[in-house]
Amino acid sequence: MLNQTYLITSVVKKLSEGAELGWVNPKRLLWEEAKGELEVSVKDIDEAEERLNRFAPFIRKCFPETEERQGIIESPLTPIPEMQRFLNDAYGEGIEGNLLLKQDSHLAVAGSVKARGGIYEVLKHTEELALREGLLTVDDDYVKLASEECREFFSQYTMQVGSTGNLGLSIGIASAAVGYRAIVHMSADAKQWKKDLLRSHGVTVIEYDGDYSKAVENGRKESDANLKSYFVDDENSKDLFMGYAVAARRLKKQIEELKIKVDAEHPLFVYIPCGVGGAPGGVTFGLKTVWGDHVHVFFVEPTQAPCMVLGMATELHNQICVQDVGLTGLTHADGLAVGRPSGFVGKVMEPILSGEFTVEDKWLYEYMRALLDTEHIFIEPSACASFAGPVNLLNYEETRKYIEENQLSHKMKEAAHIVWATGGSLVPEEERETYRKTVLD
Ligand SMILES: *Cc1c(COP(=O)(O)O)cnc(C)c1O
Repeated sequence: MLNQTYLITSVVKKLSEGAELGWVNPKRLLWEEAKGELEVSVKDIDEAEERLNRFAPFIRKCFPETEERQGIIESPLTPIPEMQRFLNDAYGEGIEGNLLLKQDSHLAVAGSVKARGGIYEVLKHTEELALREGLLTVDDDYVKLASEECREFFSQYTMQVGSTGNLGLSIGIASAAVGYRAIVHMSADAKQWKKDLLRSHGVTVIEYDGDYSKAVENGRKESDANLKSYFVDDENSKDLFMGYAVAARRLKKQIEELKIKVDAEHPLFVYIPCGVGGAPGGVTFGLKTVWGDHVHVFFVEPTQAPCMVLGMATELHNQICVQDVGLTGLTHADGLAVGRPSGFVGKVMEPILSGEFTVEDKWLYEYMRALLDTEHIFIEPSACASFAGPVNLLNYEETRKYIEENQLSHKMKEAAHIVWATGGSLVPEEERETYRKTVLD
């Protein structure tokens, strides 16, 4: 007990100093033990996957850019050997095995990982309304939801969400496509171009001086006051979570196509940037259902907004925020600028997450430029946080010990490392230019 208290105190101290760290989750269990303890199940992912398949003809119709994949919104998995070589030259020979990029930065419709959870939740609500109204049966071709009659029906309803930017884009664009009135409550971190883009889709954008929690709180209040309004609750939504979780099954096919092995001798490491926790949490749950103990998932957060590691390390989850330990919550990683984690996600992660890394903002731009130079791929600064994972896996005593204790040391040559690129393709050229020139101390 004393030992545990000491560990918590030392993690909180490091976090409160804004120091970079590697943290290993002491509550992780073997997958066999963990899966029975979770409040989410494989069946929930089955349902989400089937629902997305039912909606594919509708998505294809509303978003012609999904034509190639027949209305399935999915992103490439790309080996990035030049980036791997660069990182190993610049930061030590740390990354063995294969380094790959999961390009959710290039997902259709929303240009970020939010195209998974956000669009899924809008569609799920749409299906519920349409079934209840008798406009649809689950055996119908869902393309009929794009009819004038259906759009007219949906226009009586409002969708609302609080967001640092990307979730708002995803919910706003998807809602407008269905025909809803959409209201997005944007925190101060949200970029002007995202607000402009939403307004061009006819979405109402309400701006707040405060942070993300404030935007969510107000959005929830406004939505609750309107019987025909639905609030997408990023802090607690199981639907968002399941939309993200479907990613893992599709990734399995991509890994197989690339002839990459994942088994007891071939570990898979996945690194995902974390804000409130829904996107990385959902993806992690999905990955564990596919690969169990063979997959090791680490979140990455900014040193000034490490809400998930703070909540998990103290076990206080959403009862603590980064400002409580003297941090600002301010970061260039706008997609990760969240001070208080989702309590729902933190608890689900307890028995399955391997650990976390925190990263200073300056590295986001360095990784961004390196990826552009070596692989000619642009991803936004928030998404670049994930590179801090493979770069630092062997740099911290905690994570080195994780490798040893899990008998992974001699398997690292056979490992695959997936860096989850969570956003970027919609970033306008002027913004990219500004990012390319940004150098922080
Ligand atoms: C939203 C977002 C994340 C993290 O997702 P959460 O659900 O907030 O944890 C990571 N990267 C980008 C670019 C995002 O927009």
